[in-house]
Amino acid sequence: MAILEVQGIEKIYTTRFGNNQVKALSDVYFSVEQGEYVAVMGESGSGKTTLLNILAALDQNFNLLDNFTLRDNIFLPLVLAGMQYDEMEKRLIPLAKVLGIHDLLGKFPYEVSGGQKQRAAIARAIITEPKLLLADEPTGALDSKSTDSLLDVFGKLNEGGQTIVMVTHSVKAASHAGRVLFIKDGVIFHQIYRGEATNEEMYQRISDSLTRMLSQNPQGGEQDA
Ligand code: ADP
Ligand code: MG
Repeated sequence: MAILEVQGIEKIYTTRFGNNQVKALSDVYFSVEQGEYVAVMGESGSGKTTLLNILAALDQNFNLLDNFTLRDNIFLPLVLAGMQYDEMEKRLIPLAKVLGIHDLLGKFPYEVSGGQKQRAAIARAIITEPKLLLADEPTGALDSKSTDSLLDVFGKLNEGGQTIVMVTHSVKAASHAGRVLFIKDGVIFHQIYRGEATNEEMYQRISDSLTRMLSQNPQGGEQDA
């Protein structure tokens, strides 16, 4: 069952004085099946963040509030929804364990590492049990150890049924997904399905696709070597 269908999205940014237009997305079509783990890749400026923001129907802000503990930051969306404390706690415990932040819930954001903050932000995003988890460069600010643990968490969440769409520059991050969409100049250029491939095989296929994408000009023809 498809839980997301994108049909011909176009996005044109107009600058403040209206005399300069940027076509960030021109004709984007794809759908996401329930339970899929999809990575979206493409050069800087290709339209990835624009696409994600349109899917989220809002500008995402992953910042944690500094004068709230991690627990209270994660509870915030549930508090705003009027949920009972017992129910919030019941949802939090297993999630915090999977994310490896169980022992840090009483700490404030400035007392934990970047990777731990990122995982708290993920907990806050998924404690509401969204049908779809959208992540824009989730490993962008992380060292390699935190990247590994975040990819591990996304893998476990996906195995547990969570649908994920992740924008990433990282070939390694994308190699964990079940499908990779390549976006170029605002259109879907190519996609790869994992099938039975291992992460290492995915890594190679993604690298090859990126190389091919970068060597083709906007009209689709090959550039001279
Ligand atoms: P990516 O996330 O792939 O790096 P973006 O979606 O951020 O790409 O940007 C796609 C294109 O849209 C770029 O040319 C960028 O300069 C332009 N763009 C993004 N946001 C705005 C904005 N608020 N106003 C004008 N142009 C924008
Ligand atoms: Mg971006």
